[in-house]
Amino acid sequence: MTLRFEHETLGQRIRFASGSARQALAAEVEALGAKRAMVIASAAEAELAARITEGLPVAIVHDEVVMHVPVPVAERAREAAARHDVDVLVSVGGGSTTGLAKAVALTTGLPVVAVPTTYAGSEATNVWGLTDGATKTTGVDARVLPRSIVYDASLMLGLPVDMSVASGLNALAHCVDSMWAPRVDPIDAALAAEGIRALASGLPRVVDDPADLEGREESLYGAYLAAVAFASAGSGLHHKICHALGGRYDLPHAPTHAVVLPYVLALNAPAAPAADARIAQAFGTETGLQGLDALRARLDAPRALRDYGFEEDQIPDAVEAILPSVPESNPATVTPENLERLLRSAWEGAEPR
Ligand code: NAD
Repeated sequence: MTLRFEHETLGQRIRFASGSARQALAAEVEALGAKRAMVIASAAEAELAARITEGLPVAIVHDEVVMHVPVPVAERAREAAARHDVDVLVSVGGGSTTGLAKAVALTTGLPVVAVPTTYAGSEATNVWGLTDGATKTTGVDARVLPRSIVYDASLMLGLPVDMSVASGLNALAHCVDSMWAPRVDPIDAALAAEGIRALASGLPRVVDDPADLEGREESLYGAYLAAVAFASAGSGLHHKICHALGGRYDLPHAPTHAVVLPYVLALNAPAAPAADARIAQAFGTETGLQGLDALRARLDAPRALRDYGFEEDQIPDAVEAILPSVPESNPATVTPENLERLLRSAWEGAEPR
């Protein structure tokens, strides 16, 4: 078989060292020659952010962070950046915080240094997202890719287990969905496979002992690989579904991904045997779904969308909203009927078959 592909590698520096966020951040801000930092961190992340930004030339701390980045929230952050004449954006927090920094970078071109505190992975992608009313729009722009990422797994020791599990499965979804996403190439698949292996090994350790730094590190490493694979491969069916659900019904991002993933895998696996074999191999199981099922049981993962605010009578509207966005490359044919079944199963938390 001939191997032919095009792969674009996104340029950013990764500093991965537990317990070193403050020093690594200082070095990155200095390398940019920045003198006026805007620190973006939600109120919940404020204490952690204050600790690791100590000694930085901070011009303003901005804490209005809202999931899925509503347009007015982005506008206010952009105004604050202009008012304080900042020259670097430092985000400390989960995907919502990184997302706000990206929204500011999108219109200002300011460099972002990201310090992630969840496994969402937004820091490793050039994808931005903004929500206008009930419509979430995403786009790709080189300006939003953080110049550097400071990974410090010790910052995650306080991430509650249920949030760690949901966020870790969000990362796993990047890996699995990358396997059949529109631009998947052999490099993405290799990164995704190693991401699955690392997450499947690291997340149970986090659940067993949330203070296990090595489990946190392994999960964070997997989450980074997942995001790199996803950034290159693009959004597959799983991401299209979760994107529509999150924006339209204001569902929480990570638990939505955690619930929906097995149903998409169950739908696609029979039509994508090579991808399924790769996923299974990464889990060390016979099929991908066996591996995912076992991991979900081990992690006591989120099971049903109805637990997260999705209503049964919203299913027909969701089917209509999702169908036009189904990627042509999706291995299984998606019909109104099988999509409805998928959403109903995810709503009630039925066995993914
Ligand atoms: P989040 O950032 O909203 O964080 C969830 C909650 O966890 C918040 O209440 C936050 O304060 C808290 N939290 C974060 N870190 C913590 C820590 N270390 N300890 C204790 N609490 C902590 O959720 P998320 O799942 O990280 O990110 C979701 C958002 O990111 C969505 O809007 C999604 O669209 C976006 N996202 C974007 C991309 C991309 O490539 N652009 C990729 C993944 C996710």
